[in-house]
Amino acid sequence: MLKLIDLFTVKKPKITRKKTEEFIDGISILRVPKLRRMSLRVKPTGEVAVRAPVRVSLPTIRRFVSEHAAWIAKQRQNHASLVPLSQQALARLRDEAKNILPWRVRELAKKHWFQYSSVSFRHQKSRWGSCSHANAISLNIELMRLPDDLRDYIILHELTHTVHKHHQSAFWRHLERVLPGSLILDKRMREWKIGYK
Ligand SMILES: [Zn+2]
Repeated sequence: MLKLIDLFTVKKPKITRKKTEEFIDGISILRVPKLRRMSLRVKPTGEVAVRAPVRVSLPTIRRFVSEHAAWIAKQRQNHASLVPLSQQALARLRDEAKNILPWRVRELAKKHWFQYSSVSFRHQKSRWGSCSHANAISLNIELMRLPDDLRDYIILHELTHTVHKHHQSAFWRHLERVLPGSLILDKRMREWKIGYK
């Protein structure tokens, strides 16, 4: 039996507010308090990741995943498009990049009033693009393997660096003005990794 004093000091049992992650049957399950609906994504490794409300049962999660099997397969295919290329294929990609990207940079810069000094190309595993202090833009030829909206996102991201040499809020505000939804695109970019060691 509780003593009176305990009635004031005993805390109510708390429902955990922390996210918890488990890994079952090749599915990474992130339990998120207060979440209403389940959501699904495919990581660049091909792994399926589910965000689920705390109380959703495992069979329900499994069913949710299997209902989206076709979508998952398509996502895996998309990611697989960035597997390493042969030297020959890379040379073709470089030609393609040189034909298309300078034109697209010019077009987007003109439309949104950006000024840059030059566009050059690199092939790197870790960066999609950069913008120097002299506003020279460098782009990764792997951009040619991304969906068009993400390619434009990277170009506009680098063009916005001609005005803001940082990632502070002024940078993101400017980018959002020229490309509404830019934060979502930025998030989607994290799914894309270049598969070179
Ligand atoms: Zn940046």
